[in-house]
Amino acid sequence: KLFNEVQELKGNIRVYCRIRPFLYGECKSSTTIDYIGENGELLLTNPSKQGKDVHRTYKFNKVFGPAATQEQVYLDVQPLVRSVLDGYNVCIFAYGQTGSGKTYTMTGPNLSSKEDWGVNYRALHDLFQISRDRKSNIMYEVGVQMVEIYNEQVRDLLANDASQKRYPFMNIIASQPNGLAVPDASMHQVTSTSDVLELMKVGLANRAVGATALNERSSRSHSVVTIHVRGADKKTGATLRGSLHLVDLAGSERVDRSEVTGDRLKEAQHINKSLSALGDVIFSLSQKSAHVPYRNSKLTQVLQSSLGGQAKTLMLVQINPDAQSYSETSSTLKFAERVS
Ligand code: ADP
Ligand code: MG
Repeated sequence: KLFNEVQELKGNIRVYCRIRPFLYGECKSSTTIDYIGENGELLLTNPSKQGKDVHRTYKFNKVFGPAATQEQVYLDVQPLVRSVLDGYNVCIFAYGQTGSGKTYTMTGPNLSSKEDWGVNYRALHDLFQISRDRKSNIMYEVGVQMVEIYNEQVRDLLANDASQKRYPFMNIIASQPNGLAVPDASMHQVTSTSDVLELMKVGLANRAVGATALNERSSRSHSVVTIHVRGADKKTGATLRGSLHLVDLAGSERVDRSEVTGDRLKEAQHINKSLSALGDVIFSLSQKSAHVPYRNSKLTQVLQSSLGGQAKTLMLVQINPDAQSYSETSSTLKFAERVS
């Protein structure tokens, strides 16, 4: 049944948009989002223009307004997540400027409250729960990796021994069909619900270590949680593999080159390069072009097995409702439009 549900969705790339609510202290009257339609339309108003060019409509497979809950968002993501159990490779990534809600959607604001859980926990928890179903004819194993890509280098966020920490930068084998793109990153089997939480906590803590040292590094690196599922038919012994990449991308905001130098400039260039590379890959997939430029960034190499071919890709476009964000919002929506 789930298999059919996924098959019915058109094409392999879909784009959902989520608009975060105004936060405490933000002025609600100052917004650019004029209208959220039932069928995935979003009407954006340019606050600095008058007359004809003021409004622009964008179309998505789905738009979540500010009141959408974590659960509602997950319900529309779930069929894709579960298709991993049928052997699909799936990539779900959150794109948007810093402060637009990427981490809120993927991780959630608060791990101790289940309602707040983001896509990462819900997906891992969901796959783990299903894998435990003893009535199923298939026996599943669920394993997790979590890496960070920063300045075109890959670091294991779940490394638990000193030797792995001493050599943090990993090789990538991009074209592995089993989705093991970073074979040296530690793999952790999930055998209980508390494992799910524990792994995520370790990963977040390791990400945060960088944050104090390098000042909000998490918004300038990509984090990739990979869930590997291996299923074996209890009767025939036939096996299948599927994988799910859950990606919290670096902030997409344009950095003014005249204002940054040194490390900041280097970071900005790396982010720009990898996000453009991701856009180019998805664009060429949507155009069905013969050559897909996976090799242009570490990000696209890590995600290669879940972009293109039979893989299913979901882009979660995150929007900040504030009028001051208009130009970033507009470039975020243009990025989305190009790939959808
Ligand atoms: P990003 O990861 O894109 O930089 P965050 O996820 O950190 O953005 O979100 C920025 C702020 O907005 C955080 O304080 C977060 O809790 C809040 N926020 C984001 N999305 C929502 C939402 N859907 N509901 C309530 N608060 C949100
Ligand atoms: Mg974030």
